[in-house]
Amino acid sequence: MMAEQKWEDFYCDEVLTGKTQVEKVLETEHSLAFYHTRPYYEVHIIVIPKKHILSFLAVTIEETDIMVDVLQVIRQVAAKLENEHGACTISTNIGSYQSNKHMHWHVHYGARIRDEQGRLLNDQQAK
Ligand SMILES: [Zn+2]
Repeated sequence: MMAEQKWEDFYCDEVLTGKTQVEKVLETEHSLAFYHTRPYYEVHIIVIPKKHILSFLAVTIEETDIMVDVLQVIRQVAAKLENEHGACTISTNIGSYQSNKHMHWHVHYGARIRDEQGRLLNDQQAK
């Protein structure tokens, strides 16, 4: 089993540089939405600002345009999931709950498929 890699900043170091290829959902001047590389839900999309911003609490007044862009992308992704599946959840983590120290938003639908340690749940391993 591959150990889960711990990145200082997976989004700046891997996703935005293109070192780790992601399946893009939507891209704008300031934001990128893509399918989670290790999804925790049946449908799990991540939305990030292209600029490094630590967290939702770290957004400055000068970054308002970026934040508006991020929120519009989140809305479009959420509308896509509602259209396709009828529902979704939007969340962002703060402090010790935040695994990658680059603001990212989760937009997801469906059953949870991994535990907190990132292991696939039993019914998923059987598939
Ligand atoms: Zn970053």
